[in-house]
Amino acid sequence: MRITNEMVQQKLAELQFKEVSVSLSEFIHTSEKEQDSYQAFLYRILSFETKRREDNKVLKRLKLASFPYQKTLEDFRIEEQQSLSTKQLNQLRELTWLEQAYNLILLGPPGVGKTHLAIGLGIEAIYRGYKVMFLAMGALVRALNTQDITRKSQTIVKRLLNADLVIIDDIMYMAMDQQEANLFFHFINQLYDRTSIVFTSNKGPEEWGELIGDPGITTAILDRIIHRVEVIHLNGDSYRMKNRSTIFGSISVHE
Ligand code: ADP
Ligand code: MG
Repeated sequence: MRITNEMVQQKLAELQFKEVSVSLSEFIHTSEKEQDSYQAFLYRILSFETKRREDNKVLKRLKLASFPYQKTLEDFRIEEQQSLSTKQLNQLRELTWLEQAYNLILLGPPGVGKTHLAIGLGIEAIYRGYKVMFLAMGALVRALNTQDITRKSQTIVKRLLNADLVIIDDIMYMAMDQQEANLFFHFINQLYDRTSIVFTSNKGPEEWGELIGDPGITTAILDRIIHRVEVIHLNGDSYRMKNRSTIFGSISVHE
């Protein structure tokens, strides 16, 4: 039986090797030019496909992480952030803390790069194969509050509990009522000791009690969060303010 390109392409398509199927002639052409052995030809195709599948997985995980924007650690200009050294940033980038289920608290006033840093670490983790989920505190409380009522919230909570890294942005931005504090405690307790959490906040943990309300629950929550934690203080002027676009081009009155 004469095997045609179309027959091979159909088999490839059946096996979900879609891009190889479409570009089969090019693969054959390259392999002929390189005088590939049978093994080398097969290896070329399989490597292409495994790389493609890996890339797709990363894209899917990036989408599921629901970052508000995608900025990487490479985009983070360490020279603009005096309170973090290049060495510390590299240490964070290695993600040993994530393997050891450490939490991070990124503290500082608005605009200093807390969210950017959290997202950058999240993207790094995704490229290393971890499942990451980003959520603002308000959205988290909403999801916890309505998980028994809406399928969407239920999915969010399930995904959070399944993640290797959870990023909670702007924690303690709002006061919680008793029911919300209970739900938040329950949630932290479920992640405790197995999932890393990165918190960003403009208030230090010592002030969180004011917003959680109940002192007993506050202690229980903090106990679990700070069992293994690194607190990183970011400061300086707001990067947004320093790098804002201006209408007049210059703020100097002499020009
Ligand atoms: P916040 O601390 O309020 O969470 P963000 O992380 O959202 O601030 O930073 C505000 C903006 O400034 C973002 O667009 C972020 O990318 C940018 N930014 C802040 N710090 C840096 C930095 N060191 N290098 C590059 N961009 C930065
Ligand atoms: Mg922020």
